[in-house]
Amino acid sequence: MTYDVIIIGGGLTGSAAAHYLALDGVPSLLLEQADLNSAASGFNAGSLHLQIPHDPFMELGDDWARRFSAIIPLLQDSIALWERAGEETGEDLEIRTPGGILIADTDAQMRDLDRKAQIERAAGLAPEILSAADLRDRMPYLSNRLAGGLFCAGEGKANPLISGPAFARAAARNGADIRRGVRVRHIEREGGQYAVHTDHDVFRTRHLINAAGAAVSDISEMLGMRLDVQKFPIQLSVTEPAEPFIHHLVYSAGQKLTLKQTPLGTVLIGGGWEADLDSQGRPVVNPDSLARNLGVALNAVPDLGSLNLIRTWAAFVNGNASWMPIIGEPAPGYYVSYVPWIGFTAGPMAGRIAADMAQGKPTETRADLSLFRP
Ligand SMILES: Cc1cc2nc3c(=O)[nH]c(=O)nc-3n(C[C@H](O)[C@H](O)[C@H](O)COP(=O)(O)OP(=O)(O)OC[C@H]3O[C@@H](n4cnc5c(N)ncnc54)[C@H](O)[C@@H]3O)c2cc1C
Repeated sequence: MTYDVIIIGGGLTGSAAAHYLALDGVPSLLLEQADLNSAASGFNAGSLHLQIPHDPFMELGDDWARRFSAIIPLLQDSIALWERAGEETGEDLEIRTPGGILIADTDAQMRDLDRKAQIERAAGLAPEILSAADLRDRMPYLSNRLAGGLFCAGEGKANPLISGPAFARAAARNGADIRRGVRVRHIEREGGQYAVHTDHDVFRTRHLINAAGAAVSDISEMLGMRLDVQKFPIQLSVTEPAEPFIHHLVYSAGQKLTLKQTPLGTVLIGGGWEADLDSQGRPVVNPDSLARNLGVALNAVPDLGSLNLIRTWAAFVNGNASWMPIIGEPAPGYYVSYVPWIGFTAGPMAGRIAADMAQGKPTETRADLSLFRP
């Protein structure tokens, strides 16, 4: 069987690629080894980020932050695609962009925020330094013991449980062939084509998209190309529903935190805290990380103390040391689309770029994609 385009991976990136190809009238075949959204895309915190992440900024420094800021236009353009995705897919993806607040406990942390803000301004964001009084005025749900914060407009959230599959459903309605439970085992170059071997079939195409997330290098190695990516077990928690009271995406400059309230009223508490692996190498919750994560959350929003936690889970996040995306065409007709750590925010644009590369047309992003070449 021969297809115009074959996509490997049914996470958000692959599903978005299928959707944008279908919108352009290009039929594709999407192969997912398990179920749609069954890896990071279905287990993440749903934050839509724009700012330079604070932990690596503190760890890796200003030069790293300047390099990372090349991603910011891609994130801005991806959030613009998120804003259109509800209408395009015909589903409510629960997208809200009220902005994100990075809180500081101390004056020393405020100085770090100021340094980060200068780099973000140079990259086209407009972060706003807020005093303790500003926080009390604009975000009264935050602790009144904070030194201040850095507000980044345009950040927010979407629902990860719905979003990837919504893109795939829209793609299927418009002609994409979405197959679950089909694992790609190996790939061969045959003249100008790729022969994609699964357990039962061989599919052929001139345009092959690798959107396999944490397995992006495993797929690339089938074509003799290794990519510098890893996967890390991290965990996330959710509370019982409450009346709406947290109106922004909340981060902390002290320790790792992302915190937001969903339209259902539940509060998602995460920030990339390390999980454990069980004897079979599967991610499982680390209780110490859980306690520390909740401590940081309570320090930020004390009223969380009255809510019950209902679930904590662990999953692999696709990551790499540089935090830089890997996007490009390392061999003719073979396209990689990979965004580490924050691939939920970037997912629609990572899919759009893959769809455009497969059609040989330029992508509408202000980001300099030459910086992300495999
Ligand atoms: C706990 C957690 C919280 C996170 N929070 C956020 C957040 O708040 N905001 C944010 O922006 N990002 C967040 N992330 C990161 C984000 O979830 C990922 O970067 C993103 O979902 C990656 O999407 P993807 O489609 O590229 O990859 P994936 O979702 O990993 O999908 C890849 C798919 O490829 C399939 N596949 C692999 N190998 C094969 C094969 N051989 N044959 C067929 N199929 C194959 C897999 O089964 C998988 O379904 C978080 C991640 C985790 C784990």
